[in-house]
Amino acid sequence: MDNCIFCKIINGEIPSNKVYEDEKVLAFYDIHPVTPIHVLVIPKKHIESIVKLESEEDYEYVKSIHKAINEIAKKLNIDEEGFRVVANCGENGGQEVKHLHYHILAGKKLGTKVAE
Ligand code: 5GP
Ligand code: ZN
Repeated sequence: MDNCIFCKIINGEIPSNKVYEDEKVLAFYDIHPVTPIHVLVIPKKHIESIVKLESEEDYEYVKSIHKAINEIAKKLNIDEEGFRVVANCGENGGQEVKHLHYHILAGKKLGTKVAE
């Protein structure tokens, strides 16, 4: 989609530091990491957010995203020590980029409060 930063990363117009890629999913390091390891996992289709998932095809992307997170965790060696996955949705969720994405936050012990 025009003017979507993450679509531009998918098509190579904006560079990214890739961690994982398959037919449906791209994962790359967040440009402003909030944890020692901060990866974004996105579908290679412009879906705005969780509430805009609307077809079986869209849910296939979600399935692939979970598979990607599983593989990334092993690849980055955080599968045993653990990590957090966050998907911000809409205004109150603090979503800034309107292209579905899942943050993988890792590399330190995170607080027990999910939301502040
Ligand atoms: P949100 O607040 O929408 O859940 O998260 C968007 C994330 O995208 C932020 O953590 C932000 O740092 C990251 N981000 C925004 N623009 C870029 C970019 O051009 N490249 C990368 N790698 N990350 C970006
Ligand atoms: Zn997009």
